[in-house]
Amino acid sequence: MTARDDHLLTRVVHAGSPPFDQGAAPVNVPVVRTSTVRFASDADRVELSHRREAGEPVSTYGRHGMATHRALEAAIAELEGADEVLLAPSGLSAVSLVFIALLSPGDHVLVQDSVYGPVRERVEPLLTRLGVSVSYFSAGDGVPTASVRPNTRLIYAESPSSFLYEVVDLPALAAFAREHRIVLAADNTWGAGLLYRPLALGADISVQAITKYLGGHSDLMQGAVSTANPALASKLRAAHDALGLSVSADDAYLALRGIRTLAVRLAQHGRNAFEVAQYLQSERNAISRVFHPALPDDPGHTLWRRDFTGANGLVSFALRNADQSKARAFVDALRLFGIGASWGGYESLTLVAPLSRVREHSYWRGDEPVVRLHIGLEDPADLIADLRQAFHRVHQ
Ligand SMILES: *Cc1c(COP(=O)(O)O)cnc(C)c1O
Repeated sequence: MTARDDHLLTRVVHAGSPPFDQGAAPVNVPVVRTSTVRFASDADRVELSHRREAGEPVSTYGRHGMATHRALEAAIAELEGADEVLLAPSGLSAVSLVFIALLSPGDHVLVQDSVYGPVRERVEPLLTRLGVSVSYFSAGDGVPTASVRPNTRLIYAESPSSFLYEVVDLPALAAFAREHRIVLAADNTWGAGLLYRPLALGADISVQAITKYLGGHSDLMQGAVSTANPALASKLRAAHDALGLSVSADDAYLALRGIRTLAVRLAQHGRNAFEVAQYLQSERNAISRVFHPALPDDPGHTLWRRDFTGANGLVSFALRNADQSKARAFVDALRLFGIGASWGGYESLTLVAPLSRVREHSYWRGDEPVVRLHIGLEDPADLIADLRQAFHRVHQ
């Protein structure tokens, strides 16, 4: 049992531990697979249904999940400082849940322009079809006073942003949103709840792709929406129920297993990435700019120091005097980095940023190709040697 004043890491390790049954219990919650929930009597069924209607996280059907899901929700609630956590089958479905739960025809949503690409490419057309207008704000311009409309219901931020890690002044955005009675939601996939806590900084809703660092082993897809606001929780729950969003007990178990070691993995990813970022800064002939908020000359460094407790394994860089084909040759020349999307697993990955994705960012107007690295848990000396040989290969 943990106490309320235990530190965050302690609560994250113990949250959702199974209770003793006849004096004994396993360390881990069992994987409870079911479609039907059986009731001892019809009176129990009715009582549990009423409790569920009243907002209690009890299960009356397999879609709601059972003990494994409740334990995972409890751990994420600790991470995010939330009272309500809704699980979704992917990070993107968690993001979409927020939009669908809170927006109606005629409403307007303001989205940060350096947001995760599929929000713009996939979610915006859906919202437009449903009669919701979507526009974008540049986090670098401060609070988006000029972009707010009378029908703006939601501001959606992501800090640090995808590919280039633009850091947003979230407390300032939260004060602005509160003043205009607009809900503020933040994608917290980068910070994973340990490095960054949007709800504590004033956001109303925090979204995560569990797929990334919480899962941590590149073997599951999952998302979560967290809030400490009861009115928003009830709207989110209603949409979650209507959409029938459901997560398998096996995947819930894997996510919880990942969370138990999140702190040590993130710390090592952060240390390795910082070493690699410093090395990349020394490759002045090949690289014009390195993106990583823990670097003192990164534009987001001051806000990152104020609002974050660390950095993760993501580092991007712009290749000097290179085109897309040279960038592709560079990633092809790497031996230890898998080429692929997603990140947050134990292994190193790389991807040439699609031009369309970085062009949308008001944050950066360069036209050089951008390469993203996810620095894994390998020995950073080997990763640096690999990067060095790849630069050498494409430059001869
Ligand atoms: C990966 C990612 C998502 C989507 O998560 P999936 O589980 O891949 O659907 C959402 N937001 C951010 C910032 C991400 O990096």
